[in-house]
Amino acid sequence: MESIFDYMEKYDYENLLICQDRAIGFKAVIVIHDTTLGPATGGCRMWHYESEMKAIEDALRLARGMTYKYAAAGVNLGGGKTVIIGDPYRQDREPVFRVLGKFINRLGGRYITGEDVGTTLRDMEYIRMETPYVVTLPTYLGGAGDIAPMTAFGTIQAMRACAKEVFGTDNLEGKKVSIQGLGAVGYHVVRQLIELKAKIIVTDINSERVSRVVKEFGLPTVSPEDIYGLDVDIYSPCALGATLNDATLKKLKCKIIAGCANNQLKEERHGDLLEKMGILYAPDYIANAGGTIYDTDRVGVGPVNHERGKEKVSRIYQTMERLIEISKRDKIPTNLAADRLAEERIKSVAEVKKYGGDLPLIL
Ligand code: NAD
Repeated sequence: MESIFDYMEKYDYENLLICQDRAIGFKAVIVIHDTTLGPATGGCRMWHYESEMKAIEDALRLARGMTYKYAAAGVNLGGGKTVIIGDPYRQDREPVFRVLGKFINRLGGRYITGEDVGTTLRDMEYIRMETPYVVTLPTYLGGAGDIAPMTAFGTIQAMRACAKEVFGTDNLEGKKVSIQGLGAVGYHVVRQLIELKAKIIVTDINSERVSRVVKEFGLPTVSPEDIYGLDVDIYSPCALGATLNDATLKKLKCKIIAGCANNQLKEERHGDLLEKMGILYAPDYIANAGGTIYDTDRVGVGPVNHERGKEKVSRIYQTMERLIEISKRDKIPTNLAADRLAEERIKSVAEVKKYGGDLPLIL
């Protein structure tokens, strides 16, 4: 990034806040991308960065991603993100997260934070000591607790909508599904697909995680390198990003890709290539929105309610159907259709918002 202002202008960011406390050794960046739909919301990442600029870039990029994620999911929240520059394993966490809570509180509800890479629910408890504007919390503090099962549930809704389009039925019974990554979410994708009677084959680079599902469910496994070339109906990437790239696309034999991993496409053009290959891709930020939809459901409507939250997550099915429609209407790949859906929603809600008189924020 050459110029911060040019970048912010290009993607229409609202705020970038640089926060520091010398005594604590605290350096953080809070970004508010767009608050058209509601308060900017997005987790707090704690990470080593090569440079301050890289941290700012990451915070800006992630905040914008949240705007699109909420907008496309039909959630009334804007996009924001915090990045703390520092060691994610730092031991003296209380002052770090309490001081972050103070900075967030000063924003008066324009930004709401949560857990992300390098931070834990315990850290969120420290933030909560200083501000109510933190959504990801343990259940005993009024939060939704572990959201991985709901992320998995949402991924499967996207998968079912894709199956309806490709196979004419959203019944996954007997469908061959390969799953890459058996971590917090992948494990629940496996469990829930077993309930739906899909035929599953799995891989993970962590042998303990593989052993767990083999022992529990008796599933077949393949080596991590062999997962791409399997003759399956659906491939579900649930590990890390950028696994859809020039090398792996050549190997794919599936008809659908629907997984929870973030940033699955190495580059945007890989979305075009998938379309040309006749593979229906459930865009990552649509397919993995379940956890955050569930987690943030209480914002504006009050205490966590499992039925209401789950119902909202199940709407990922309709969102995916809508994307397929836009993709056909505008002759664009589904990843671009997702962006279009988000942009169209923000534009139309901005029209509604001009009347003012917004409801108060409940958290
Ligand atoms: P996790 O760290 O618990 O699990 C990831 C698993 O992938 C690990 O078991 C790891 O060993 C495995 N893995 C890594 N590289 C691999 C490879 N090359 N081949 C096979 N396995 C590999 O993470 P998670 O919370 O389950 O999240 C998985 C993905 O979903 C991440 O991309 C994450 O950003 C995204 N995501 C998670 C959530 C959530 O609710 N946890 C929500 C949205 C998106």
